[in-house]
Amino acid sequence: MRVGILSLQGDFLNHFSILERLDVEPVLVKTPADLRVDGLILPGGESTAISMLLQSSGLFDPIRGLIRDGMPVFGTCAGMILLARSVIDGREDQVGFDAIDIAVRRNGFGRQVASFETDLDVAGFEDGPVKAVFIRAPVVEKVAEEVEVLASVDYQFPDSSGRSVPVICRQEKVLVSSFHPELVGEDRIHRLFLRLI
Ligand code: GLN
Repeated sequence: MRVGILSLQGDFLNHFSILERLDVEPVLVKTPADLRVDGLILPGGESTAISMLLQSSGLFDPIRGLIRDGMPVFGTCAGMILLARSVIDGREDQVGFDAIDIAVRRNGFGRQVASFETDLDVAGFEDGPVKAVFIRAPVVEKVAEEVEVLASVDYQFPDSSGRSVPVICRQEKVLVSSFHPELVGEDRIHRLFLRLI
C-alpha cells in the first residue's frame, strides 16, 4: 500500500516516520506526478502557506479530484483546516477541499502560548488514552449529522465559556484531527486511517 504525505510545508517528515513503522510505503507528494497513492495525509503546518503552495505546485485540482473519487485522506491540524467544508478566520484567498462537513475556526484555541497537551480518550481505542498536542489548533465549531466524532476535549475558553470541542472526526473516507499524533510518535490514529484505505 502506497500512502502519500503532502510535503509542501509543515511537519510531513513526522508522518513519514510513523508510516515507515507501519506496513506501508510512504510517498512524499510534492508534484502531481507523485500522486500515484492509495491514500493521502495532509500534515500540520500553516494552512494558508500550504494553500498557496497547493495552487503554485499544480496539486490542488488533482487532489480535489482524487478526494471526490473516494481517495481516503487524513488531515492533522492545518490538514484538518484544508479538508473542512468551511473555515472561519481564514485568509480570504485560502483554498480548501471541502471534504468533510465541519466548520473550523483557525487558531480557535488561542495563540502559540495557548498551546496545550492532554490525554484523550478515543472511541474504540481500548489500550489507553492518546497524548494529544495542540499547537495553534483549529476549533471545530460545527459538525454535520453525517460526521462521526471520535474524540472531544472539554475546553475553557478565555471568555470563560466552556464546552466540549470535537477533536477527531470522520466522514466516510475522510479523517481529521485538530492535534498532532505524528509529533509524539502516536500511531493508532494512523492505523485507523490505514483501515479506511
Ligand atoms: N494555525 C495553523 C493554520 O492555520 C495550524 C497550526 C498547526 O498545524 N499546528 O494552519
